[in-house]
Amino acid sequence: MENLKDSETIAQYKKDLLDQSFRDSVATISKEGNRNYIMPQKPKGKLYNLRTYFSYFYLILFFTLPFIKVEGEPLFLLNVLERKFILFGKIFWPQDFFIFAIGLLTFLVFVILFTVAFGRLFCGWACPQTIFMEMVFRKIEYWIEGNAQQQKRLKELPWNQEKILKRGGKIIIFFLLSFLIANFFLGYMIGIDEVGVLIKEGIPAHFGTFSSLVIFTFVFFFVYYWFREQVCIIVCPYGRLQGVLLDKNSILVAYDYVRGEPRGKASEAIENKGDCVNCHACTRVCPTGIDIRNGTQLECVNCTACIDACDEIMDHIGKPQGLIRYASENNVALHEKVKFTWRLKLYSVVLTLLACFLAVLLITRSDVSARILRTPGQMYQKREHNQISNLYNIKLVNKTRTLIHMDLKLENIDGKIEMINQVNVPKESYFQTSFFVVINESQLHERKTKIKIGIYEEGKKLETVNATFLGPSNEHKREEHEVKDNHIKEHQNK
Ligand code: SF4
Ligand code: SF4
Repeated sequence: MENLKDSETIAQYKKDLLDQSFRDSVATISKEGNRNYIMPQKPKGKLYNLRTYFSYFYLILFFTLPFIKVEGEPLFLLNVLERKFILFGKIFWPQDFFIFAIGLLTFLVFVILFTVAFGRLFCGWACPQTIFMEMVFRKIEYWIEGNAQQQKRLKELPWNQEKILKRGGKIIIFFLLSFLIANFFLGYMIGIDEVGVLIKEGIPAHFGTFSSLVIFTFVFFFVYYWFREQVCIIVCPYGRLQGVLLDKNSILVAYDYVRGEPRGKASEAIENKGDCVNCHACTRVCPTGIDIRNGTQLECVNCTACIDACDEIMDHIGKPQGLIRYASENNVALHEKVKFTWRLKLYSVVLTLLACFLAVLLITRSDVSARILRTPGQMYQKREHNQISNLYNIKLVNKTRTLIHMDLKLENIDGKIEMINQVNVPKESYFQTSFFVVINESQLHERKTKIKIGIYEEGKKLETVNATFLGPSNEHKREEHEVKDNHIKEHQNK
């Protein structure tokens, strides 16, 4: 239950925040519309150290995954142009679109559930953009240009030797790093071996691949040198979703205004003064240039740099840490513990159902997909000994990494299949051919007969495909019999 001081503080804080005009603009764009280059103070503290260790793990993963192979193929491949996708060593084709769509839906619900519960935690701790920006490029920038104050000083300097050397060095290193990342990025798309082939055989033979590499390099350089945190603030759709996903029970980086307000320096005579000493250490380290004391803002990527900064100040002034911490609005205002709300329960049920459905689809997914259609424009053909044949086209997709030799068998009716070609489907490829199905007329009681064709590899059935077999209609048969009978009669009369 909130006490009197709490409710007064909350009311006052909310009143002070009535002016929400800071939400009308972003810190990265000045009033004149120019780029406001944010130079945050270098963060330090236990959370920043933890993030650094996490980033080592992610970076090792990013630069080693393309080299890990399963049966000669990469563990992950997202080849959009050839529409070939490999996830955890399993190849997915456009025919697996349904599985892909369910996988994406499951991922989306997971993201929603995760965001409802933990806010934008992913952005600050796991997003590749933040990892590269804050843990690679920003660190290099601190190393070359120094901390925020030195960077501001360098910016003001005329183009003297120091500025040329530092800025030039930064541009060269940033560009080389962007080139390296572009190579690996391309490796995820076309396979790292293909990138190796480009390096070995030179540009003229692989101009298309080289052009992609150049484009990616410039895009990465542009993002990490100039555009930076604007990716999270302006471009990323996930950030924009926060407003609809977060509620008062979502845990995010939050300023405890009940404890911190009214803010002011220790020397200031403020009645009931809160713990915030208005030192701006939290705003100085913020890579998106916001003041977290204004409340939850879409710019906040939950990087926790402000938590470290404020904890250090609290230690310094002898107050408990956690004035800025991971907390929900209800935790701050009402001291409520984290709750497993109905919304979370509902999302969890949906997520579990989707995950089960996806698991079933993956387990039952066949290695071969086949489509059989009667050859267009062809009727049935009559053969000797009352045999009827239909011509079919078959399109087979081999999703495995080995050549498959297939046999076709009629499953539900006596008859035979005459192949025009041997069905040898190369690995990870398509194969198209034609074949005849031959059935004795006595087996056919309708004009259209449903038949089942089994697809076998070395005696093992891979799939059963349904098709329709055309034969003469009963009427037609009757007419034919009548004609035949008449012929016989005529012959006998003669
Ligand atoms: S770092 Fe802490 S004490 Fe300093 S301004 Fe921010 S919230 Fe207040
Ligand atoms: S407000 Fe804090 S957590 Fe959010 S982006 Fe700024 S420094 Fe990171």
